[in-house]
Amino acid sequence: MPPVNALLRSFFDALIPRICAGCNTKLELTEKVVCDSCLSGAEYAGDDYILQQYNINFSGSAVDSFTTLFIFRAESIVQKISHSFKYSGMFRNAVYAGELLGDKLLSKEITNETDFILPVPLHPLKKHERGYNQTDYICRGISRVTGLELHTNVVRRIKNTRTQAKLNRNERMENVRDAFIVKKPFMVKGKTILLVDDVKTTGSTLAEAAKVLKDAGCKKIIAATFAIAAGDTI
Ligand SMILES: [Zn+2]
Repeated sequence: MPPVNALLRSFFDALIPRICAGCNTKLELTEKVVCDSCLSGAEYAGDDYILQQYNINFSGSAVDSFTTLFIFRAESIVQKISHSFKYSGMFRNAVYAGELLGDKLLSKEITNETDFILPVPLHPLKKHERGYNQTDYICRGISRVTGLELHTNVVRRIKNTRTQAKLNRNERMENVRDAFIVKKPFMVKGKTILLVDDVKTTGSTLAEAAKVLKDAGCKKIIAATFAIAAGDTI
């Protein structure tokens, strides 16, 4: 007999068919958010590429290690998933993205030494505009898979930074400078934290958040994102 959630899913699928975020076809019972065919077209970021990106973007920063799942390119399935949870209100798709990332973190044993998960916060005004922080939902997915605790209220974004899309690396670093404060330093002191964002471009946001956490006494920052932007694709 199928488990109860599978029964519920088939019931709801009959009422409101779930549609693939990539190709708009009806999803099979076993599929979540995107169909297997679209998922097989997603481009995974290899270890060498990730290390190269770490060296370019995080070397000398407060980020001790970095991992990501996919490469984000224009018109790719990864972009479609990201845009669905960032701009189309489909925040549950971010939970799915987090589950995929969580599977990778588990397989690489990255979670073994981690004390808890921390999403990069949005400024309250931006969160109010969107209605949610998509990264909170990615972290819920990671937490569901890894069993790690998630804390969303430790760091606050105090600077409503302008959109980074058209800024170069130096402008981005300047844009996010002093953007964060640690609200609960006692929570981070001596801890190893998995710091999560949705898509990494230059890494300036992650590096700045990591810096204030380290200043507050955090021992180690492991940064992780659902995807990494290839070139100027955001
Ligand atoms: Zn599809």
